Amino acid sequence: MRELTKAEEEVMQTSNIYYKALKISDVSVCQAAILAFLMLVFSVSCQKREDVQQPLIFSDFPGGNIKIDSIRTDTVYWQPDLRDNTSQDWFYWYFAVESKVPVRLTFISTKRNVMTNAGPAISYDQGKHWQWLAKDFDASKNIFSVDLPGDGKQIRLSLAMPYLESNLHQFLSKKALHKKLRTDTLCITDGGRVVERITLGPDTSEVLHKLLFTARHHSCEMMANYVMEGMIEHLADEVEMLGLECVFIPFVDKDGVEDGDQGKYRIPRDHNRDYEGTSLYASTAAIRDWVPNWSEGKLRFAIDLHCPWVKNENNEHIYFVGKATGRHAEKEREFARLLEKNRAGELDYFYEPGGYLPFGEGWNVAGNYAQGKSFTSWISETEDMEFSMALEFPYALNRDQIITAGNARSFGKDLARAIIEWIQNFANATQTDLSSDTGLPGHS
Ligand SMILES: [Zn+2]
Repeated sequence: MRELTKAEEEVMQTSNIYYKALKISDVSVCQAAILAFLMLVFSVSCQKREDVQQPLIFSDFPGGNIKIDSIRTDTVYWQPDLRDNTSQDWFYWYFAVESKVPVRLTFISTKRNVMTNAGPAISYDQGKHWQWLAKDFDASKNIFSVDLPGDGKQIRLSLAMPYLESNLHQFLSKKALHKKLRTDTLCITDGGRVVERITLGPDTSEVLHKLLFTARHHSCEMMANYVMEGMIEHLADEVEMLGLECVFIPFVDKDGVEDGDQGKYRIPRDHNRDYEGTSLYASTAAIRDWVPNWSEGKLRFAIDLHCPWVKNENNEHIYFVGKATGRHAEKEREFARLLEKNRAGELDYFYEPGGYLPFGEGWNVAGNYAQGKSFTSWISETEDMEFSMALEFPYALNRDQIITAGNARSFGKDLARAIIEWIQNFANATQTDLSSDTGLPGHS
């Protein structure tokens, strides 16, 4: 172990806070030295975490992510740990604090644009339930404070409301759902994790239409999973009579989700640019392998759930990202209009203005996909597909509405209602086409 520099020694002497990082490779050289020093302190004094009296910051749990720059008394200077996202700054973070002495900790981010305009989210039950930390938060100041009552209980803080494998399993274990769902394994990731594939629908012989829904191509975009929960809950009661098979893949980048990576702009390319050439990731390779066999000409459309950038204009309302051009784009627009019509939950959705970003406008241009083909581009090439779109669901604000896990689920139900109406319309139109075919006068 190298000697601590004077600056590092000063940090250690003035800090009242222990920081236990996930692993040495996750921290900077400066932090590694601090961590090594702390480990020395721990080993010499044989202290366990539960014996530590000082406030403790840690991220060694699923989804954990923080990089500490320095700690001065009760103020922590920090930033998100970008890991293999080096092409752009990104903003996912998630850590825990606990203290056996009452204390107010202040967190100052050393990077800009790492907090939503609703501020951080906070959980008092290790990530099962979340709420926003403060009202009237000013994200431009890059600062927030947390009061720890000194009861030693863990408080978790994050960019928004992390959704991990444990959240999914809790959702899937609900009795009302359990019998209606079939969950199997799409693939095993490089990290040895299961990528879940959830199927709703009748027996294979009765399936008339198939739909595919994915989330977390970008691992940080956790709010999408609350929307997916609402979709599953609503569709579970409807699929049988419609002859509809819906498949959900909640965590395309499962390793990134559980490791707490940014995921977006991963080097050399992220999961949503991995549908071209040889796929780099097990899950994208498995999707490309499985879909063509599974679809059987019955796959009508696919929606890939995302979250946009962290805040401000164009990132604080719900919108679809169109994929098609020309007359095919009308099918995308039609679905977006159906969503507006079927909206019954708390969160607004307007087709206009801003609810549909056509291909070729704003950031949705060919140059954005230069790293590789996206999921929606790739799947739109599947035979007989009607359309495929991404949905951007914000982290914290939908215009002036505060997003919660609850109203995100309700929005998922709105989406499910639009899906049902679309399928009914499609089935009616197809039947009409068939009957008009048989009614055509002969030409012989
Ligand atoms: Zn995304």
